[in-house]
Amino acid sequence: MGYVCLHCGKKFKELGHGFIRCQYCGYRVLAKERAPIAREISTN
Ligand SMILES: [Zn+2]
Repeated sequence: MGYVCLHCGKKFKELGHGFIRCQYCGYRVLAKERAPIAREISTN
């Protein structure tokens, strides 16, 4: 799972804890990329 930049539309993985920023344009408004599943599957 990663993030999608709402400015340039590029996808990338999480950089670290807390502070997340687009690696390409530096934009700080990002959308979390979700897996296309309808139901959650408990793996714990
Ligand atoms: Zn960007």
